[in-house]
Amino acid sequence: MPDSYFRYNLNMKPENTSILIIYTGGTIGMLEDPVKGTLKPLDFQKIMKHIPEIKGLGCRIESISFDPPIDSSDMDPSIWARLVEIIQEHYNDFDGFVILHGTDTMAYSASALSFMLDNLSKPVIFTGAQLPIGALRTDGKENLITSIFIAAARENGVALVPEVCIYFDSQLSRGNRTTKINAAHFNAFQSANYPYLARAGVHLVYNREFIRSPRQPGDLVVHKKLDNHIAILKLFPGINPEYMDAVLGYRNLRAVILETYGAGNAPSGLFFLKRIKQAVDKGIIVLDITQCNRGSVEMGRYETSRHLLNAGVISGYDMTTEAATTKLMVLLAQNLEVKEIKMLLNKSLKGEITLP
Ligand code: ASP
Repeated sequence: MPDSYFRYNLNMKPENTSILIIYTGGTIGMLEDPVKGTLKPLDFQKIMKHIPEIKGLGCRIESISFDPPIDSSDMDPSIWARLVEIIQEHYNDFDGFVILHGTDTMAYSASALSFMLDNLSKPVIFTGAQLPIGALRTDGKENLITSIFIAAARENGVALVPEVCIYFDSQLSRGNRTTKINAAHFNAFQSANYPYLARAGVHLVYNREFIRSPRQPGDLVVHKKLDNHIAILKLFPGINPEYMDAVLGYRNLRAVILETYGAGNAPSGLFFLKRIKQAVDKGIIVLDITQCNRGSVEMGRYETSRHLLNAGVISGYDMTTEAATTKLMVLLAQNLEVKEIKMLLNKSLKGEITLP
């Protein structure tokens, strides 16, 4: 095994550490309503009853529960602000944080928190489940217990993974590199453009070469304000100019994520380019990301993306939609000039893009 890997025996208990579990909701804590047949959230104490093993881990575990817990389809920026507030308030009292969250928007929340928390030196691990914790074949138990191990993992007193991550189905990935790709199987998430940070098998093996550590550790800084005056314009052959006008004409629009084809390509027709250029000239930021889940935007490689470059569109490289959306929301809320925001969009702030 290369030096850059760190093998952590799963039988080693996370003793003498302290973990805060924040329970927001999601399938992990849901129960079937016998009348309606739909899944609805349980409270946290009921969830804990299903995992008595947690008491034997030897670490101090405390929890904060959303009341009521939510289905993550109801997630929004005000709840992200609440989450970072909770982390900030309890930052000095715990070694790591585990956030129980529905899978549907988990990749958005993990991306958002990665940009809302600066100088993070402790793990923030999102997890959840595809099957409720009370179900016989639940994946929630392993997901939660291993997330606690990861949130507690330290070497010489320093956290092994001081990042916002998602742990799911034996894989730990950087939150802002992750996308939900499967609604039916346990392997719900994928980090297509960045290596996994750890894998759990018989051992927990950390891929430490790819784990970020704070360059100049300082006090935690949190950004609670987000600006949601953004839009996502996904291209498709036959896109209607009126549809583009509706999206680009929305009042107070500040940024558009253009989901383009392949390496960042878009129609070269005047109807399209004229509208994009008009948006850029109005001061709207247009960010080019690809609809492909692997690979990167390479503006200028084809004629069809050179037009975009000339119109003032900027490259989002290999950023996920989730990372692009939340990075924009955080940057737009910071009273920065458009040109500064564009410059920061082209920088990897939290490991969200691979620069050429
Ligand atoms: N609808 C659920 C949620 O995201 C799905 C899940 O947890 O897997 O809250």
